[in-house]
Amino acid sequence: MKLSEKLSGTFVLHSSLGRTMAIFMLLLLTAVLVVSAWTLDRSWSRKLQDAESSAVNLSVSQARQAEDTFLQTEITLRAIQREIPDGGPAYANKAALSRVLTEMKSGLPQLNGLFVYDTQGNWVATSSAHTPAGMNNADREYFIYHRANRHGGSHIGHVIRSRLTGELVIPVSIRLNDAGGGFVGVVLATVRIDSFRRFYSYFEMGDGDMLALMLDDGTALYVRPFADSFINRSLSSSSLFTTQLVRAERGKGTWKSALDNKVRIFGYARSGQYPLIVAAGFDKSALWSQWLHDSMPDLVLNGTLLLIIILIGTVVLRQVRTNVENQLELTMLRDELTTINQSLQALALLDGLTGLANRRQFDLFLTQSLKRAAISGRPVGLIMMDIDFFKRYNDTYGHVAGDNCLRRVGDELKNMPLRQTDLIARYGGEEFAIVLPDTTIAAALRIAQIAVETVREAAIPHESTALPAGVVTLSAGCFVVAGSDAEQDAQHIKEGADHALYQAKHNGRNQAVINEAG
Ligand code: GH3
Ligand code: MG
Ligand code: MG
Repeated sequence: MKLSEKLSGTFVLHSSLGRTMAIFMLLLLTAVLVVSAWTLDRSWSRKLQDAESSAVNLSVSQARQAEDTFLQTEITLRAIQREIPDGGPAYANKAALSRVLTEMKSGLPQLNGLFVYDTQGNWVATSSAHTPAGMNNADREYFIYHRANRHGGSHIGHVIRSRLTGELVIPVSIRLNDAGGGFVGVVLATVRIDSFRRFYSYFEMGDGDMLALMLDDGTALYVRPFADSFINRSLSSSSLFTTQLVRAERGKGTWKSALDNKVRIFGYARSGQYPLIVAAGFDKSALWSQWLHDSMPDLVLNGTLLLIIILIGTVVLRQVRTNVENQLELTMLRDELTTINQSLQALALLDGLTGLANRRQFDLFLTQSLKRAAISGRPVGLIMMDIDFFKRYNDTYGHVAGDNCLRRVGDELKNMPLRQTDLIARYGGEEFAIVLPDTTIAAALRIAQIAVETVREAAIPHESTALPAGVVTLSAGCFVVAGSDAEQDAQHIKEGADHALYQAKHNGRNQAVINEAG
């Protein structure tokens, strides 16, 4: 595999350092992500909780404020009631009563007017400068209500438009009874919607946030910041009336407003004294935008942190990649060098022409074999072989053919049935040698004879040989040293074998001779 192929894809992850770094970076990234998400989630939850408690506090305080307003109004109505004779408003001094009403109203800016009606709904007295004549309110809901209901409690009605000023007002009224409990008229106070409008405008609330004053039947008396057209709308279908108020007098929750379908975080409170309910709601989407805006520094910080980690991770992984690349390159270089070295070593120990062991290897092997023999005590044999009349062969066929002949003789010798432990070598020129560790004299001579026979039987033509066979032949000389004599150097065994070779030549060549002197 080429280096470039090895380096492709995710190879860095296959190195243990790369894997460790990648896992570490991944863990760090996950940790930062989890911590950031957790922190942001907590901050959003806190924002929601804060909004809920603000909404509850606001609704409770506004319910109390509304209670105060209506309580003050009721006290005023009771005071007027006391000013009216037992027989009813018809027997009152109208001018004096009107003055009382005017005076009472002057201290109460939230009131639009104070009115006293007789049994038929005729205007008896009002808090305005002059009471218009011929006015009748028998058609008003509160009048009909009191005429029909004997109880003496106050009644808060739906919002109406004042017949005197045209202003939107909440009517608060009580029934007037004679001594026998018979209906003799109604005392009415009208509370200005504007007073709530003004009061609710003091609070810093967003455009989507709402503050609603409602009757407990779900009728909206005033809802900030909605237009007056929403006044008297029934909100009884909203979650506030269908679920929340059923469960508790005050509380909080998130639901869709019945007025505009906006999801708000609500707080609500029911008045203990009057049939009034106040709800404060914060627009959830506006809260979200605000929270996003407030959390922007955190978000940017976390994002930057993540980016830095990713950046550092990339740089580190790149560094790891370079290291691994270098390591890989070095490993490949080392392998190549090892291979080259092995080839060089092999080349240095082989004969280039025949592929047999060369003289160098022969010397090393012989020395080693002699050393081993000295330890083991076993004999070592050496056969020295020389091609007969080779000079003539060269002269006859030329040097190139001479080389080919040497190669063929080498191949024949290679094919001899030798043991793994034996070494066959080209000793030099047309001379060959076989080192035979752990071999007896008889066995060495037998092998030498086989070598001579093998080459002769190869029948390589040699027309100029002095021998009658007319083929290339060998002469071989053997010498065996006993293990105990092995300390004698290689020179000794070589001389021994060479002497036998000389003898073989002398005896007529094409034969093996053993020198038994060893
Ligand atoms: P003898 O039977 O006594 O050994 O006679 P010889 O001719 O073989 O002996 P000699 O030592 O006189 O000649 C050896 C010749 O071998 C000399 C040289 O030309 C030849 N020779 C030595 N090395 C090589 C070689 O590598 N290639 C070739 N072609 N010839 C070689
Ligand atoms: Mg020779
Ligand atoms: Mg020769």
